[in-house]
Amino acid sequence: MNGLSHNHGPQVNDNVVHGKARWIMKPVTLPESGWQGLLSITSYTHRGENTKTYLVEKLFDDKGRLAGYRLTQDNGENYDIDLEFNWQGATCECADHVYRQRSCRHIRGLWAALRAIGEAT
Ligand SMILES: [Zn+2]
Repeated sequence: MNGLSHNHGPQVNDNVVHGKARWIMKPVTLPESGWQGLLSITSYTHRGENTKTYLVEKLFDDKGRLAGYRLTQDNGENYDIDLEFNWQGATCECADHVYRQRSCRHIRGLWAALRAIGEAT
């Protein structure tokens, strides 16, 4: 986490991380590892463009209901996105969400990518 100010110009959506997401491998359900896909998320910040690739898996609660998604980077770092009740209430473990209270690249990117394949509304 750095100490940079968030005041960087007269942007309307200063509270939003801009970016795009695309599936490198659309989710499939494999017999041994379950539902998973490979997602590339690019975010545009005042520090430049940043692309990361994540393995996407579903998380289930103890009753077997969908509870969220886990995004794992190739370096093993992962972020759990907790859906709570819906996408509007989704939370993520990353600094952008936890400390800056923003809808982070993980939530926005994953939501857009899941909508594109009809997995989210
Ligand atoms: Zn996040």
